[in-house]
Amino acid sequence: GIKCGIVGLPNVGKSTLFNALTKAGIDAENFPFCTIEPNAGVVPVPDPRQSKIAEIVKPQREIATTMEFVDIAGLVAGASKGEGLGNQFLANIRETDAIAHVVRCFEDENVIHVANKVDPKADIEVINTELALADLESCEKQLQKVTRTAKSGDKEAVAMKALLENKLLPQLNEAQPVRALDLDDNEKALVKQLFLLTVKPTMYIANVNEDGFEDNPFLDQVRAIAEGENAVVVPICNKLESEIIELDDDERDEFLADLGMEEPGLNRVIRAGYELLNLQTYFTAGEKEVRAWTVKVGATAPEAAGVIHTDFQKGFIRAEVISYEDFIQHKGEQGAKDAGRWRLEGKDYIVQDGDVIHFRFNV
Ligand code: GDP
Repeated sequence: GIKCGIVGLPNVGKSTLFNALTKAGIDAENFPFCTIEPNAGVVPVPDPRQSKIAEIVKPQREIATTMEFVDIAGLVAGASKGEGLGNQFLANIRETDAIAHVVRCFEDENVIHVANKVDPKADIEVINTELALADLESCEKQLQKVTRTAKSGDKEAVAMKALLENKLLPQLNEAQPVRALDLDDNEKALVKQLFLLTVKPTMYIANVNEDGFEDNPFLDQVRAIAEGENAVVVPICNKLESEIIELDDDERDEFLADLGMEEPGLNRVIRAGYELLNLQTYFTAGEKEVRAWTVKVGATAPEAAGVIHTDFQKGFIRAEVISYEDFIQHKGEQGAKDAGRWRLEGKDYIVQDGDVIHFRFNV
């Protein structure tokens, strides 16, 4: 599954966010294959298209596609040198696919700030510096290694050495993240081998007060930083989210309408994580269940089949495909067939976001 790690300084609102996310979460029993640690929660990726399909198909059940969030607490300055829970913290981040970095953008005299002052720029720097230092160490080790092999003329080692010396080390020495570098495809492939932390797709969760979504200089600071390093910003009021999540459905709709919101802000966090990782959704729609599945943008039909089961990928024959728009417009499979909008696609077909697919395969 896809894993997103929540990081940030103490008292910025990480646990509040994590608790709200996991309360929005689903029963683990629906997902027998994932064991969930106390600091990890599986949440459904909200997708209104799924219920539109279900209205037509009327299945016994609906299953959303999911994302896992992990609360990675315990970062203090010096983590990269093993201070506090430092090493554990860094190991936990290494296992994630993306990072949600919570930044305090609210004033509240009742909530102590670790540096006694709300200062998003300084806060972000503390965390990013630790991550950069950890990467710096990995890169220095790697440089020693490839310097030896590069001498014997190994092409890849020569390329790695140049990349480390000319781009990665200078960037990390400035405590800047590797994701902010402009790299070509070859360089990207080399960087992948290094399992760096600062290359992970990152979103800044700007935790604002109820009235802090506009004209908020703290939020502007976060936006400016994100822009410079290929990261995205999701402004949210975690405190409000933790209240919204306690309401039942009717109350929630009313509450959101009063606030002028269409949906809980949590949905934006979940979706931003999804987009950050360049993921998209396709659907399977049968009488038993309508279900959403996650694939990388650009995945082929057999790769998409493999998300359901490896046997589906191995024995792939064809995919019966109806685009989401056609499925809705023609009121389901039969209607789409009658209108000539039902397609048989082969192994080279690139799955499109929202496709409704039925796989044919050999067992
Ligand atoms: P963590 O240490 O980063 O996990 O922070 P917590 O989630 O425990 O939050 C620290 C304190 O800040 C708690 O008392 C929260 O109730 C409070 N808090 C969290 N988000 C907000 C917010 O958006 N506005 C205000 N005023 N307080 C918040």
